[in-house]
Amino acid sequence: MDIKIDDLKILFTEDEIQNKIKDIASKLNEFYKGEEVYAICVLKGAVMFAVDLVKHLDMPLKMEFIRLSSYGTAFSTSGKVNAVDISLPDLNDKNVLIIEDIIDTGLTAKFLMDFMHCNFKTKSTKFCSLLDKKVCRKTEIEPDYFGFEIDEKFVVGYGLDYEGYYRNLRYIGYVEAK
Ligand code: 5GP
Repeated sequence: MDIKIDDLKILFTEDEIQNKIKDIASKLNEFYKGEEVYAICVLKGAVMFAVDLVKHLDMPLKMEFIRLSSYGTAFSTSGKVNAVDISLPDLNDKNVLIIEDIIDTGLTAKFLMDFMHCNFKTKSTKFCSLLDKKVCRKTEIEPDYFGFEIDEKFVVGYGLDYEGYYRNLRYIGYVEAK
């Protein structure tokens, strides 16, 4: 299947996304209470979400970027997580906030949480995802914070791509199964 822009149905509008981000940010501001945070954006998909989210965070914050890939084909997870670039500073004793676009099978989230636990003794490690496809989960991982729960749809926009396209959309869309 090819995804054409005209076939996209809107799942979440720009306003809905931005309002949800403010909600998540206020929970994070409450949780961290002004303590320093290392916000780790998982590229490429989480870039829009991470950038918008950190603008609403009040604590001293450093941003880091790591790059993973897991998608085998345009629509399905390969089942393997590849660390394309995961170089990080010393995160021992730090508050770490991992920022993802979507949790699908949960393999990427599990890989990242295991990576943190194996490499650092952080003060806290929290996982925040804009979208959560709980019905697709193949691991026991749950995000500490998430924006919207969605069913089994392939979504694009706001950082999420189809063959590299549509990351620049301000909304999140999907294609209705015919
Ligand atoms: P997981 O490891 O949880 O199966 O998958 C996580 C990654 O798969 C996400 O970071 C994202 O890059 C990709 N992914 C999962 N579902 C979708 C989707 O519906 N649309 C797009 N564009 N990417 C997805």
